[in-house]
Amino acid sequence: MNHDDLRHWSKRAADWAHDYHANLRDRPVRAPLVPAAIARQLPLSPPEVAEPMETIFADFARIVPPGLTHWQHPRFFAYFPANASPASMLAEQLANAIAAQGMLWQTSPAVTEIEQVMVDWLRQSLGLPEGFTGTIHDSATTATLSAILTMREQALEWTGLTQGLHGQPRLRIYASDQTHSSVDKAVRIAGIGQANLVKIATDASLSMVPEALHAAIAADLAAGFVPAGVVLCAGGTSVGAFDRIADCIAVAKAHDLPVHVDAAWAGSAMICPEFRSLWAGVEGADSIVFNPHKWLGAQFDCAVQFLRDPGPQVKTLGLRPTYLETAGREEVVNFNEWTVPLGRRFRALKLWFTLRAYGLEGLRTRIRNHVAWSQDLALALGKVPGVEIVTQPALSLFTFALANDAATEALLTRINDDGRIYLTQTRHQGRFVIRVQVGQFDCTAQDVAMVETVVRALI
Ligand code: PLP
Repeated sequence: MNHDDLRHWSKRAADWAHDYHANLRDRPVRAPLVPAAIARQLPLSPPEVAEPMETIFADFARIVPPGLTHWQHPRFFAYFPANASPASMLAEQLANAIAAQGMLWQTSPAVTEIEQVMVDWLRQSLGLPEGFTGTIHDSATTATLSAILTMREQALEWTGLTQGLHGQPRLRIYASDQTHSSVDKAVRIAGIGQANLVKIATDASLSMVPEALHAAIAADLAAGFVPAGVVLCAGGTSVGAFDRIADCIAVAKAHDLPVHVDAAWAGSAMICPEFRSLWAGVEGADSIVFNPHKWLGAQFDCAVQFLRDPGPQVKTLGLRPTYLETAGREEVVNFNEWTVPLGRRFRALKLWFTLRAYGLEGLRTRIRNHVAWSQDLALALGKVPGVEIVTQPALSLFTFALANDAATEALLTRINDDGRIYLTQTRHQGRFVIRVQVGQFDCTAQDVAMVETVVRALI
């Protein structure tokens, strides 16, 4: 296969992609869960001799789609969305063709400079003040890890990087039990340890209790531990919890602690000014992550981290050996120094295409529709005999359950085996509940209404 062949096959691929998307509503949303069904269709060893692309492509079209859960299906209401706007797909096609590695400014100035501009466009779009800069990571997990590594080093006065953690004081990170498991993962990887992630109590609104945060920090100081930072939740994964950001930041700042806000999902909604009260006070944070690859339409992978001052993170993650120097251009930004991996994809291109192709107004309309349709659906489902709405819509996410866990779990299995919609579960205050989030880029009011139809049919 050479570049002339590629021209032919990329057109074939584009046609295949068009038909795939045009017919998605006819497919079951979730893949049938038959372990090894796909793997056993592949030879056990790689080919010694080149195969014709016609055969490879035919195998792809035959084997792969039946093994897919269709994340771009308009009736995907599971997890959170991983939206890919058509404009984003086009940008990714171009980024693939260019195949640039943007680890340094000089390895492709366009990659770094468009990233800088896109981060600033998004800063403005979310209503964050001037002064926040930022970078694009692969995932919120990596952004949160970067923030927590930075908290660790600030608390250790930059000795962890050089001396390791042996003999160091016991660091403490604070978060509520509504934060995503990526926070737990980060404290583990950072060598802080799960036991030193202090889970602060939440109130009836599922916000971290600021007084409890203060009490936990005070108790740790009295015990000789070293508080290192606070991670706040703006749109929790389970049921969409929001910490009272301003109040919690005030406590953290009274103790001179850095704050990272995880808005991986809900951050996209902040392009709508009317939702910003949910994270009021966020401008006091040191670090904020949100995933345009969830709700905004710039497809996976694309996680933006805003930083009040990139200095501490660059000091934590940056290394500049001679082979990574840019002679005569010491003033440029080399984004690898802001992130964990050295190599970086050209992720900003899909943001540029998506923001321009739909405009903020187009994207706002989608998000507003999703929130309104989710509220309508919660009202309608709440009237179905036997259904209880357990948590009301937080933006476009709510949960429901039947009388007991076994019945709820059995209903979820029937729903997902049916295939017309896809929902997933969580456990809320000990109870097994079904999550419904509305957020797929192409979904319509009719697609959302299908949830009620399916639940009524299968309850
Ligand atoms: N934070 C929240 C609130 C999430 O919902 C998720 C994933 O759903 C994450 C973090 C992790 O995101 P990522 O897959 O980008 O690491």
